[in-house]
Amino acid sequence: MRILVTGGAGYIGSHTLIQLLREGHNVLVYDNYSNSSPEALNRVKQIANADFNVCEGDIQDAGKLNEAFGSFRPEAVMHFAGLKAVGESNEKPLEYYAQNVSGSIELLKVMQRHECRRIVFSSSATVYGNAKYLPYDEHHPMQPTNPYGRTKYFVEEIIRDWTASWGEASAILLRYFNPVGADPSGRIGEDPNGMPNNLVPYISQVAVGRLKHLKIFGADYETRDGTGERDYIHVEDLARAHLAAIEFSEATTGCEAINVGTGGGATVFEMIKAFEHASGQVVPYEIGPRRDGDVARSLAAVDKAERLLGWRAKLSVADMCKTTWNWQSNNPYGYGSK
Ligand code: NAD
Ligand code: UDP
Repeated sequence: MRILVTGGAGYIGSHTLIQLLREGHNVLVYDNYSNSSPEALNRVKQIANADFNVCEGDIQDAGKLNEAFGSFRPEAVMHFAGLKAVGESNEKPLEYYAQNVSGSIELLKVMQRHECRRIVFSSSATVYGNAKYLPYDEHHPMQPTNPYGRTKYFVEEIIRDWTASWGEASAILLRYFNPVGADPSGRIGEDPNGMPNNLVPYISQVAVGRLKHLKIFGADYETRDGTGERDYIHVEDLARAHLAAIEFSEATTGCEAINVGTGGGATVFEMIKAFEHASGQVVPYEIGPRRDGDVARSLAAVDKAERLLGWRAKLSVADMCKTTWNWQSNNPYGYGSK
């Protein structure tokens, strides 16, 4: 199948590309490299032993998108491109609405113009906001607590309206929980710009000696050890969910939101321990105050993914830590060319 992948050079996009290429799909990556490096794509080509074209462009650039669609004629789109830092979204909300919301609208318009009717969209568990109950199922009320989360919520609603207006259209909104881990080759992985915001990249930069110690954001939550609990999902499992979603969209019309998590959770202390075990390094930490906006626990209900997509997560927290360490220890400064 011909699949246009926006944001394909990024963390999750690059891991998904490997599986798409291994399955024999024909891909075109559309990325502006605002948060990634072309080196990731060179490595994807080597790992998968396959070639593909890349169009350097912004999803807000309708002309460029139109050209890419005209020459590649995609049958489906995987839409990863967008900005993703919660803290930054509080400081630059308009930038987030422009790139994530307006960019997605441009993409949908061009898709329709070229009669490309299928999309898999990168949404997030952050659309749910504070838990009314756990685990979050797909019917949980959506009350995102920051501009980033609201961009995901608005784009979900826009895609839902778009599919309702075009009977042949099919959309899968994948609500990711906490993606971590790396390809087992150790050649691609998560390479955050500047100071990492997320737990696992922070721990791995401490373990490799780039950062001194981890700051734990609160140890007084109502969880089994007082630290925040999250549903971490291996990026390889997440990539497989995209393949299952694109297959599902072939035979269906309409719009489905589907959680992508494991259904289980790990606390901050448990993640530190697992990472120390996988890396053989000590991860020093200090306990500090809670981070604004953090929830105590976030866990996914995963039966819808299993029922509709026939997908479930296979990899463990140990696999997540082992592959993260393999990537980080072999590439202490990531791609090093940002
Ligand atoms: P990433 O930043 O590594 O990848 C995003 C890619 O999109 C980058 O290559 C970037 O250069 C590109 N991009 C950004 N804005 C663009 C634009 N306007 N035009 C063209 N390309 C653009 O992020 P990721 O972790 O791979 O996340 C992928 C998607 O999944 C994002 O939409 C993100 O919001 C969503 N998501 C991520 C997480 C997570 O924890 N990583 C969790 C939930 C949802
Ligand atoms: N966390 C932490 N120190 C950090 C980063 C994160 O203690 O430097 C905690 C955070 O409070 C949460 C968990 O680790 O309980 C996961 O945080 P992350 O930002 O990775 O994911 P999110 O909170 O967005 O689900």
